[in-house]
Amino acid sequence: ATPMSIMTATGRGAQAGVLIKNAEALERFEKVDTLIVDKTGTLTEGKPRLVAVLPEPGHDESQILRLAASLERGSEHPLAEAIVRGAEERGVAMVEAGDFEAVTGQGVRGTVDGRPVALGNLRLLRDMALDAGPLIAAADARRDQGETVMFVVIDGAVSGMVSVADPVKETTPAALRSLHELGFRIIMATGDNERTARAVAARLGIDEIRADVMPEDKARIIRELQAEGCKVAMAGDGVNDAPALAQADVGIAMGTGADVAIESAGITLVKGNLDGIVRARRLSRATMRNIR
Ligand code: ADP
Ligand code: MG
Repeated sequence: ATPMSIMTATGRGAQAGVLIKNAEALERFEKVDTLIVDKTGTLTEGKPRLVAVLPEPGHDESQILRLAASLERGSEHPLAEAIVRGAEERGVAMVEAGDFEAVTGQGVRGTVDGRPVALGNLRLLRDMALDAGPLIAAADARRDQGETVMFVVIDGAVSGMVSVADPVKETTPAALRSLHELGFRIIMATGDNERTARAVAARLGIDEIRADVMPEDKARIIRELQAEGCKVAMAGDGVNDAPALAQADVGIAMGTGADVAIESAGITLVKGNLDGIVRARRLSRATMRNIR
């Protein structure tokens, strides 16, 4: 494309909140056939809210929440924020936690009131040689609604669970319909579990998911698709997404997301809405058509 047509396209994009880093990103995007989208913060608001606290017999709700929230104060994960805010809203006082440790893709561990406490997903339980026991039915029912469930382990025993909901962005369903119409293959990738992922995907008409992915897996998934000959764009917002955004033929960052995600991307959607991708595609097509 000529420098002039590229400037026109990037200028138009910028006006609409679609920041295109360079000519390369614009040119490459025209060839993209596969779009990987992160779930949390990309398809969803990324502001999960605590919706349920379920204690096992012998425990009570406020105790479960107190231990969980005290521990999560040490974490910057959006799930942690949801639990801390949920405790505040319910008037549950938190205390200082000790020996805090974040376990990537699993949850958090530490001590509260001198007792060992852990909070996280089934993978975390498995690593502790535990299982969800009778809570699994309630957990699955919640996940089938698209919620994310975290189990609370106290003194080495599964003692309850907390569940959070992260609503889909208002603009997401229409944007996905348009992207499907443009012919993209759309794959949702998430660190969240399969059931939750499936529920959200079903609601949005996404038929392919990769769930329970560890942060480094997203870049690997993209490499594998590229090895099959796919031209891949990846849309994400998190610190975790940065390697995948860099690996993709075109990385698309949510302007509402982490700085490192924006730095790794060729396109930034200022408003954090996926309809910006539809516009980026039109701009890239128009620009490339000009030169043929
Ligand atoms: P993503 O943000 O894409 O869902 P993560 O790797 O950050 O991926 O998290 C994967 C899963 O690990 C979460 O769905 C959750 O079950 C668990 N997890 C991660 N961090 C925390 C945390 N601070 N508290 C509880 N669970 C967590
Ligand atoms: Mg995210």
